[in-house]
Amino acid sequence: MDPVVVVGAGPVGLTAALLLARWDVPALVLERRPEPERTGSRSICQQRDVLDIWAAAGADAIAAEGLAWTTARTYLHERELFSWRFADTGTLPACVNISQSRTEEILTAAVARSPLVEIRRGCEVTGLDQDEYGVTLRCADGTSVRTGYVIACTGGRPEIRDALGIGLPGESFDDRFLIVDLAADLPGWEHERRFHFDPPWNPGRQVLIHPCPGSRYRIDWQVPPGFSLDGEGSGGLDRRIRQVIGTRPYEVEWASVYTFHARVADRMRAGRVLLAGDCAHQYAPFGARGLNSGVPDAENAAWKIAFVARGWAPPALLATYGTERRAAALENLAVTTATMRFLVPRTDRDRAARARALRRAAADPEAAAAIDSGRFAEPFWYTASPLTTPEPDRKSVV
Ligand SMILES: Cc1cc2nc3c(=O)[nH]c(=O)nc-3n(C[C@H](O)[C@H](O)[C@H](O)COP(=O)(O)OP(=O)(O)OC[C@H]3O[C@@H](n4cnc5c(N)ncnc54)[C@H](O)[C@@H]3O)c2cc1C
Repeated sequence: MDPVVVVGAGPVGLTAALLLARWDVPALVLERRPEPERTGSRSICQQRDVLDIWAAAGADAIAAEGLAWTTARTYLHERELFSWRFADTGTLPACVNISQSRTEEILTAAVARSPLVEIRRGCEVTGLDQDEYGVTLRCADGTSVRTGYVIACTGGRPEIRDALGIGLPGESFDDRFLIVDLAADLPGWEHERRFHFDPPWNPGRQVLIHPCPGSRYRIDWQVPPGFSLDGEGSGGLDRRIRQVIGTRPYEVEWASVYTFHARVADRMRAGRVLLAGDCAHQYAPFGARGLNSGVPDAENAAWKIAFVARGWAPPALLATYGTERRAAALENLAVTTATMRFLVPRTDRDRAARARALRRAAADPEAAAAIDSGRFAEPFWYTASPLTTPEPDRKSVV
């Protein structure tokens, strides 16, 4: 069988290739970077259903190495408003923290063990054509690759979407986020996520602290539009860190500033090409729905392509990929957009609603449910999918 082509060796593309191999379908991964990029923590919270998919793909080390945190604490100014704990109900933790760089290393190692997956690095796809029999991908070095099916996992880059005439409508947020990975010993913080609304040391904005494996911590400061690390001035970053962790020794391993987008592709399938991960949707990371939704895209795409390629299902099965995963993407967009409206309100009405909710939660812990610092996803329910048998008597639980 000809290999299915996966474009992009990010975490979603690597997962897609491993899952194709699980169905005994060979995969060829085309990646523009000559070497893997290993910068910083980026996506850190990976939830149970995604750990389960990775375990099935041969990357169970992600769950084993990840730090299973237990408690989430939320503060207003410097006072704790409320906390909650994950219920311990499964064989896998509800969620682990692990840096995206390490996740990609583990996935790359799993790929290296698979005789059915080949990664071709330094190979940038610049365009494609398809006909009723297959897809021809054109590469920047002048070569081309012919294949039956493509999973495009190209992250934020537009080439494949543009070649297919697929738009990525939505918005980008003005406020920026400063992210720092620290190595530090912070006794008592090892298994707790801390979210500060409006602390005196970042007035009017948020700060989020996550523990990671190996005495690492990830701190996210919401910062104003136009913020840059260079503009922090001498000792500025150290002052910020000291305000959070006090006088304990630390080492900065990575610092970066980024902006968030809220965008979903018009379509997630065009003929024999399926779009997955950030190539198809981009969200603010509060609620950790970026990579946590890219991995189910990869899983959905891989089994459907495998079934069609092996002749177990008709080609029409591929259309259900777009229906199912775009519905999931739109739900993720709605939830993360509501979170951003709470975290970064842009209208007087939203600002007033947020101030009211925080005041109420300060007076009454029962009112904590209205505080939106990000909502974890559960696996999407494909109730409107053509593959789901209607059950008219079933009552919705949502
Ligand atoms: C600074 C930062 C912090 C983040 N924090 C979080 C977080 O806390 N939580 C969260 O859920 N998400 C977070 N994200 C988002 C998360 O990193 C993404 O959801 C995730 O990387 C998506 O994976 P992907 O494989 O779809 O895309 P990517 O990781 O972008 O990988 C795409 C790959 O495709 C390759 N490629 C692109 N175009 C081509 C081409 N034409 N030909 C060949 N190869 C190509 C690229 O080189 C790359 O290797 C963060 C992102 C950044 C940048």
